[in-house]
Amino acid sequence: MVDDSIVRGTTSKRIVKMLRDAGATEVHVVIAAPPLVSPCFYGVDISTDSDLIATGRSVEEVRDLIAADSLTFLSAEGMLKAIGRSPEMKNCGQCLACFTGEYPTEIYADTVLPHEKELSR
Ligand code: SF4
Repeated sequence: MVDDSIVRGTTSKRIVKMLRDAGATEVHVVIAAPPLVSPCFYGVDISTDSDLIATGRSVEEVRDLIAADSLTFLSAEGMLKAIGRSPEMKNCGQCLACFTGEYPTEIYADTVLPHEKELSR
C-alpha cells in the first residue's frame, strides 16, 4: 500500500485490515513523506503532536500499531528531491516543520490552534 502520509494512523490501520480481510497474506506500507511528528501552525489541520501517531514513536512502533508487515517512509531529502526543490536554498525553500519540528517562523507561546479556537466559542 502506498500513501502520501500517515497522520493519526487510523486510516492506515483500517486499510491494512481491509487488505488482510480481502486475502492479502502480507501488507507492506510505503509512505511518500517522512513521519509527521509536529503540529502545523500555518493552516493545515494537524492540531497537536498528540494527534500524530509517529510523535515519540519509532518506525517499528508505528508499523506495529497499524499492523503492517513493513513500513517505509521517504526521507525529507528524498521528498525534496522528488518535488524538484533546489538544494541551494535552506530546506530548498520548503517548510518541513511538521516533519522536523523546526519552524521557519517564530512560534509564539499564545499561538491558538484551530481546534482551540473552536472550543473557545
Ligand atoms: S510542511 Fe509546514 S505548512 Fe505544510 S503541513 Fe507541514 S508544518 Fe504545515
